[in-house]
Amino acid sequence: MTTLEYDRAYIWHPYASLKDPPPVRLAKGASGVEIELADGRRLIDAVSSWWCVAHGHNHPAIVDAIRRQSERLCHVMFGGFTHEPAVELAERLAAIAPKGLDRVFFADSGSISVEVACKMAVQYQNAIRRPNRNRIVALKGGYHGDTSLCMAISDPDGMHTLFKGVMTRQFFAEKPACRFGAEWNPADAESLARMLDEHEDEIAAVICEPVFQAANAMNFYNPAYLAEMRALCDAHGALLIFDEIAAGFYRTGPLWAHERAGIAPDIMTVGKALAGGHMTLAAALASERVAETISSGSPSAFMHGPTYMANPLACAAACASLELFAKSDYATNVARIERAFRTGLEPLKALPNIRDVRVLGAAAVIEVERMPARRDIERVIDKHNVWLRPFCNFIYAMPPLVSDAATVARITAALADLALSRPGPAQDDGDFHE
Ligand code: PLP
Repeated sequence: MTTLEYDRAYIWHPYASLKDPPPVRLAKGASGVEIELADGRRLIDAVSSWWCVAHGHNHPAIVDAIRRQSERLCHVMFGGFTHEPAVELAERLAAIAPKGLDRVFFADSGSISVEVACKMAVQYQNAIRRPNRNRIVALKGGYHGDTSLCMAISDPDGMHTLFKGVMTRQFFAEKPACRFGAEWNPADAESLARMLDEHEDEIAAVICEPVFQAANAMNFYNPAYLAEMRALCDAHGALLIFDEIAAGFYRTGPLWAHERAGIAPDIMTVGKALAGGHMTLAAALASERVAETISSGSPSAFMHGPTYMANPLACAAACASLELFAKSDYATNVARIERAFRTGLEPLKALPNIRDVRVLGAAAVIEVERMPARRDIERVIDKHNVWLRPFCNFIYAMPPLVSDAATVARITAALADLALSRPGPAQDDGDFHE
């Protein structure tokens, strides 16, 4: 059996069937914005390998940091030990996080950091003798990961409905209707306000993806909603959690998507671009008040502890990644990428099969009535040598933040080509995830 044949027969890929699975390409290497295939072709990674490869693939500074760390300490349990990469990373994160969010819990994936953030909120409420406050309010259209609590707070009508039976019951406010750039309409926060009014005694926290609901809706919404959320949480004694895993690290323009709202959450999750797409790492950052309260409760220990917590290789990669974020002018680069996407894609709005074109920062979304057929998606990828991973009704790109003008032009051409391809059959089975 060849490598690809074995893979096809025995290995599950994300959101794929093992019976007649969609094709996978054999990656041999990667550098900069490109992935190199076994046959020598190079594809531009227009989705930053699910939005994490911010500085480009195999960045020498990050690779070197991992190599140097691997010669000293690859792993040690974080229970009973600490190490320099973890401490340096915590300090670096505290320096760039919203003011006051300097208490760090390292997790090994974005989903786990979200679980941790929610558990922090519940344990916080427990510590102040409100044990019944153990539910989370989330937004329809949101996505926070694939573990069970994350599924339970992601869009209730989205891709996780099959697992309703194992999910705990949480609360949902309506998907934010106030589009980014449109005038703020206070009525858009009414559903959240109602939820907090009706269930205050049960609610530990409100969670959202600030400004950019990514994997379930590709929806950019008005930051004014976040300020409203902050006020409502304060009025109802709920904590506010911002999940910046997709939107953070300049993806929508500023370092943190919520910066535009001029407020800060009590807990924030970061992941994906944190380690620049070189190692898996995420973190939940909490305020002093949250940390102090949890630590004064009973139990005083925060009750979570993954085996690979604060893995030194991942922390070293993230330190190098944060150094690159500090040294680079990504805000300017992202503004340039945004302008190029707008110029190239907004004219498509008027065409048949195109519902909407939305661009914010280094994220471009073309919402279509019907997705082109799988063979057309493959054709466009191969014709342009641009790797795209459309899902549901969304043809999109979220390229590495280092993408230059020529790269963005090629991605734009590929997006447009796909958007103008013949609409395919009604929704493909399984084609529902980013
Ligand atoms: N939160 C958000 C906003 C995400 O977009 C994702 C992944 O796409 C996650 C959480 C889950 O992260 P991970 O896939 O690293 O578990």
